[in-house]
Amino acid sequence: MDRTHTSIVHVETLSDKIERLTNQSPMLCYQCGKCSAGCPVRNYMDDSPNKVVRYVQLGFDDQALQSKTPWLCAGCLTCSARCPQNFDVAKFMDAVRQISLEENVEIAEKDTVAFHKAFLNQIKKYGRAFEFGLVREYKLKTLNLLQDVDVAPEMLLKGKLSLLPHQIKDKKQIKKVFEK
Ligand code: SF4
Ligand code: SF4
Repeated sequence: MDRTHTSIVHVETLSDKIERLTNQSPMLCYQCGKCSAGCPVRNYMDDSPNKVVRYVQLGFDDQALQSKTPWLCAGCLTCSARCPQNFDVAKFMDAVRQISLEENVEIAEKDTVAFHKAFLNQIKKYGRAFEFGLVREYKLKTLNLLQDVDVAPEMLLKGKLSLLPHQIKDKKQIKKVFEK
């Protein structure tokens, strides 16, 4: 008897990818909203944090990856501490950002991405944050040249903004972290 065999190929969903990166399933969330209620930057977000989790649960992967919310998340961990399911929402947001970058998604908050990259470049170069270099690189990337320029003189006077970078001694360790 001629039988036709069909094989089922499992395509990794966004939920699977997040679970692989974070060791926690987005399906743990039961949508109580406690995370969003305590989020200090909720008013600036387009979607509440639990709504982004819901997108992922329901397979609305594009909506989750294109949401501004993961890029506005400050990583303060309030949501993670409040979740009755012990779901680490901040870690979830990290994973969404990482996947968006890996998959070249059109990111709504481009300035935030520019800030992240400028910050990491300073760490890579000097082993610690160099605020002046960070501001310079961020402004060149975004062309927000005059943004917050009025606070610079006061910061310089108070010694909060050094014009020269301080380097850490063992930069090899930092190099290894970036290679990883
Ligand atoms: S607090 Fe936890 S369970 Fe409640 S909505 Fe947020 S992530 Fe889901
Ligand atoms: S970690 Fe992000 S999503 Fe969670 S409360 Fe803080 S800012 Fe909001």
